Amino acid sequence: MKIVSVLKRNRLIFLVLVVYSILLFTSPDKAIQSWKNSTYYLIEMLQVLPVIFLLTVVIEALVPKEMITKGFGEKSGIKGNLFSLLLGSISAGPIYAAFPISKLMLKKGASITNIVIILSSWAVIKIPMLANEVKFLGIKFMGIRWVLTVISIFTMGYFMALFVKKRDLPKPEMESKERILTIKQEYCIGCGVCVKLLPEYYEIRDNKAFVKQDPKEKSQIAVIVKMADKCPTKAIVVGQSE
Ligand code: SF4
Repeated sequence: MKIVSVLKRNRLIFLVLVVYSILLFTSPDKAIQSWKNSTYYLIEMLQVLPVIFLLTVVIEALVPKEMITKGFGEKSGIKGNLFSLLLGSISAGPIYAAFPISKLMLKKGASITNIVIILSSWAVIKIPMLANEVKFLGIKFMGIRWVLTVISIFTMGYFMALFVKKRDLPKPEMESKERILTIKQEYCIGCGVCVKLLPEYYEIRDNKAFVKQDPKEKSQIAVIVKMADKCPTKAIVVGQSE
């Protein structure tokens, strides 16, 4: 049961390992090359991500929510769009480094449009990238591409905000020290019993149960404790567990 659960949770990694194994028998050269590429990117990620996480901690602790809301929020207008373009363009590091920062900025009040602008400019019009482009393809090529790309990025940002709302994004989990209700993810088998019994407190995402909200009144806790007992794997913990 536990092995199946581990496999389910890490299915992408296992799928990649299976593909590598097949490749090793059918085309060893490609397998070795793929392994080298993966190792290269893994090492790169291990070098970049600690710095990014440190940066997110600094932003979380030192940048007030009002500042992000004012500079990059729904009401920041064209000024916010231009700030976002600038932020994405002067950033350094690979695009995956932008995701934790974007998540934090969304949490602190940035708009979907501005996050799309930051991510897109980070990915395709970073200043070092433009300098290289001039070197190899000339300034006219770079300039026209930059203008067309910026128009596309802004259009994409506004369209994304029409279709994707903040409520569609994954909800951040509550800090464990704040929780009354916790689900031990390693035990949850996603059977859905808890959701059926108390849909106001639990939800299923990616075959796992998550807490939607903590009970607001003490009187509700008794019901929750009783229902938690019906979880077949005893994954639900009521009370601060960690
Ligand atoms: S009842 Fe338990 S095992 Fe089933 S989904 Fe809920 S928490 Fe997971």
